[in-house]
Amino acid sequence: MDSRRDFLQKFSLGLGVTALAGLPAVAHDINPVSNADKQLRVAILGLGGYANIVAKGMKDCKIAKLTGIITGTPSKIPEWKKKYNIEDKNVYSYDNMHEIKNNPDIDLIYVITPNSLHHKHVLMAAAAGKHVICEKPMADNAKQAREMIAACDKAGVKLYIGYRLHFEPHTKELIRMRKAGEFGKVMHVNNYAGFKIGDPKQWRLRKALAGGGAMMDVGVYSLNGARYCTGEEPIWVTAQESKTDKVKFAEVDETVTFQLGSPGGMIANCGCTYNFNHVEGLKLMGEKGWAEMNPAFGYGPIRGNTHLGPINQPDVTHQAYQMDGIAECILDNKPDPNVSGLEGLKDMIVVDAIYESIRKDGKKIFINKA
Ligand code: NAD
Repeated sequence: MDSRRDFLQKFSLGLGVTALAGLPAVAHDINPVSNADKQLRVAILGLGGYANIVAKGMKDCKIAKLTGIITGTPSKIPEWKKKYNIEDKNVYSYDNMHEIKNNPDIDLIYVITPNSLHHKHVLMAAAAGKHVICEKPMADNAKQAREMIAACDKAGVKLYIGYRLHFEPHTKELIRMRKAGEFGKVMHVNNYAGFKIGDPKQWRLRKALAGGGAMMDVGVYSLNGARYCTGEEPIWVTAQESKTDKVKFAEVDETVTFQLGSPGGMIANCGCTYNFNHVEGLKLMGEKGWAEMNPAFGYGPIRGNTHLGPINQPDVTHQAYQMDGIAECILDNKPDPNVSGLEGLKDMIVVDAIYESIRKDGKKIFINKA
C-alpha cells in the first residue's frame, strides 16, 4: 500500500491528522516516465550551496542523472555546463522553465532555493508537468504544503521532500529495528540539531525568504527524526524560544526547544539552534532497549549505537542514495520511504503548532484532536 493511501486509510480510521481532512482521497494518475535506458533525468532549480553538493553527489548515481539546470543567474551557467555536461537545450531560466514541458530530457525538477520560494517553485515545476523534489523545509506553513500537494496531484506528478536520511543506511537500520520491535515501545526521544550561523545578512536570517529560523532549517531534522524514531504522529506540542541576540535574530527564531506528545504517551524532547555549535544527536529510549546516533543528521558519516551494539552500516554519499532511491520509486513504481509531500505536510503541521505554542508562551497546542 502506498504511503499516501496508507495514511488516508489511517485517517479514515480516526488515527490520522485531523488537519489533513481537506485532501482529495484518491491521487490522480501519475505521469509515467518512459525511457528505454531506465534513467531518471533531473534538472536542478536554484544553483546555490546545496545544489552543488547534490550535483556532485549525483556523479555516484546509477539511475538518476543530472541533465538540466534552471537558474536566475546566467553567470553560473558556463561552469555548471562544463562540470556536469549539461547541454544547451537543457538550460532554463525561471522565465522560460514552463517550456520544460516539451523537453523529454527532463523527468524531474529538484527545487533547491530558499525556503519561502519552495511553494512558488514547486507549483511552477508541477505546471511544467514534471515530477518534483522539494528541499526541506517543505514550505513556510502547512497551508502552502497542502497547495503544493494539490498542485502536483492535479498535474499527475509525484512530489518528494529532500529528506536524505531516509535513504541513509544507519538511519534505515534504526527504523528497521524500531519496526521490528527491538526497542519495544518507544517511551522517550531526545533530538537536537544546530550550529552557530555566520553572516548576519544571509537569507536564512530574513523571514521573507527563510519562513523562520533554526526551527525551519535544522529543527525539521529533530522533528522528522522524532517521527521516524517512534512511527507515531504527535497529538500535542509545547515549545519555547530563547533569543539571546535580539539584533541578529530580529526576524527569525534563534534557539527553539519543543516537546511532542504521542497518543501512546511517548514524549519527545527536541531542540535546535542557530547560535551555538556541537548541537547534534538523536536518542531513543524504549521499554526493551535504546539507540543513540551522533552524528545523526549531517552529511555523514552517521554513527549509531544501540543496546545490542553499534549500528554497522556502510558510509555512503547521502545525495546519491537519495536520488537513486527516488528514481527507483518513480521508475519501478515502488512505495516511497516516507519522503512524500504528505510526510513534508505532516512535519509542517507540527511546525505550525510549534510556532503557535511559542507565540502563546509555551501553551500546549493540540494538533490531532477531532
Ligand atoms: P544557498 O543560498 O546556497 O542557495 C540558494 C540558491 O537559490 C542560490 O542559487 C540563489 O541564487 C537561488 N535563489 C533564487 N532566488 C533567490 C532569492 N530570491 N534570494 C536568494 N536566493 C535565491 O542556499 P542552500 O544552502 O543551497 O539552501 C537552499 C535550500 O536547500 C534550503 O531550503 C535549505 O534548507 C536546503 N538545504 C538542504 C540540505 C539538506 O541536507 N537536505 C542542506 C542544505 C540546504
